Amino acid sequence: MLTETDQAQDITIAGPLDAFTQELFDDLYINEESAAAPEELRLHVAGLLEAAETDTADLRHTGPIVALFAELHRIAHELDWNPGQLGLAREALENLARRHARIDEHGVTIGGRVGKALPIVHEARTRIADYLDRHAIEAPSGLEVWDRILANQARIKQALGMSDVDWDSYSGQLRHAIENVDTLASVVDLPPQAVDEVRRVTQTYRMRLTPYYASLILSGHDNDPVLLQAVPTGEMVDAVGEEIPPVAADHSPARLIDQFYPRVATIKATNMCAMYCTHCLRIAHIGAKDRIYGKEAYGEALDYIRANPEIRDVLVTGGDALVLPNAMLQWLLGELDGIEHVRMKRLGSRIPVTTPQRVDEELLDILEASNNRKPLRVVTQINTAQEITPVSKAAFTAISRRVAAVMNQAVLLKGINDSKIKMWKLCETIQEAYVRPYYVFNCSYRNPQFSHLRVPVATGQEIVESMYGNISGDAIPRYIATAGGKIPLHRTNMLGRKEGGLRLQKPWSGDRVLYPDADAREYGREDFGFARFRDMDGA
Ligand SMILES: *Cc1c(COP(=O)(O)O)cnc(C)c1O
Ligand code: SF4
Repeated sequence: MLTETDQAQDITIAGPLDAFTQELFDDLYINEESAAAPEELRLHVAGLLEAAETDTADLRHTGPIVALFAELHRIAHELDWNPGQLGLAREALENLARRHARIDEHGVTIGGRVGKALPIVHEARTRIADYLDRHAIEAPSGLEVWDRILANQARIKQALGMSDVDWDSYSGQLRHAIENVDTLASVVDLPPQAVDEVRRVTQTYRMRLTPYYASLILSGHDNDPVLLQAVPTGEMVDAVGEEIPPVAADHSPARLIDQFYPRVATIKATNMCAMYCTHCLRIAHIGAKDRIYGKEAYGEALDYIRANPEIRDVLVTGGDALVLPNAMLQWLLGELDGIEHVRMKRLGSRIPVTTPQRVDEELLDILEASNNRKPLRVVTQINTAQEITPVSKAAFTAISRRVAAVMNQAVLLKGINDSKIKMWKLCETIQEAYVRPYYVFNCSYRNPQFSHLRVPVATGQEIVESMYGNISGDAIPRYIATAGGKIPLHRTNMLGRKEGGLRLQKPWSGDRVLYPDADAREYGREDFGFARFRDMDGA
């Protein structure tokens, strides 16, 4: 027992216990009976007490004290025995409680740790348990199923007659791009009716996927999320409804330029992509016919930017900006860097996801050189964790070392990423691949071609809100509707105002807190800080 240890006596400090520890003791002694607990249990806790007193006598570890109190807490709750019934003296426990607070660098008390913090962490764990159980099955990353993807690659290489050199090069990937249903059917297992349907739809809409992207399609699901993104289905032509022209049609103040905002402009530098998405906003324009733009077109776009000095951030998109040859990219970035008022640039590209072979040293050097002049960010589109493989991860890792940031703009798509587990997995997987989740878009209402992939606004809100408190804050994207600019869809956590404060709700637990607001009168005062001395010098 504590009083038998000389050293322990030396460090025993008197004084009241803090409120949390008081509360913990009240909790331990809630049952006031005195009948002795079973011998076995008494021996068990006597052992824990002795370990705590001996091990902590020289003020080194908190662990044995925590173990003792956590077990007493459990026994009080589950078995209804108090420490007295277990044969422990209250004084000995109080001395250990004081000792705990002295050992802990931040003065955390045993009541704070065992009575508060451990139950909070335990409760928090229950919120993520289903994610940890299910993510590898419901939303496997391309890293996790790499063996299956490699098997697909071997099969596809053979079916398309591709050498390893073809496979590992951008030009080889493009030369062997899958553009018709017969080629598709030779590399992906599709039911006969699906083959007929794809044949019908591809008379209207262009299909193109690189052999690499096709290798990410996993058999065993009718609606594999990669297949759904890449291969057009009957709904695209059968959906009734008229396509509303892309918003950009009425937001293009100059050739190749789109502008919603005063300080950000986009240059649609190409209409080509290495792979065409079934949910593309610009579906009417992108991929219809490959067009190489002339220097006059770029020249007029650059002139517009030069003539509008408020433009500070220029986004080079398409199509896909990285479809442009290196020499063209280098020229365009150089022109932008040469405009005094342009302070930052972005490149929009899905190529690191669909054709990571494009990312070579020459490109990386160009990106780095431009980034050294003025910050350059790469904005990409990854919609599922399945699209992150060792190859795309290596591409993103390399890019991230050369530019200011790599950011993801996902599209919320039915059957593809419209569940908590899939979206959490996407955000965590890309973050681990050096890509920062930036936006998640509610899929546009403007195109009947992909209305079958739309997800209700509220479903997206629930998914995004479920991330708060449960995954790293910088893995949480902003949820956006595009309708003539980007409109944030985050439901506010403000429930209302009360007594000079706001009623806020914690998204992860629903707990409500009163958050006192800044005092309006105080905020209105101009004589604060150094301004208080303004008139004091007699000036
Ligand atoms: C998305 C977009 C931007 C950029 O918006 P941010 O909120 O700055 O990412 C700018 N212009 C157009 C036309 C866009 O579509
Ligand atoms: S990469 Fe972008 S522009 Fe190209 S098809 Fe996909 S969504 Fe459209």
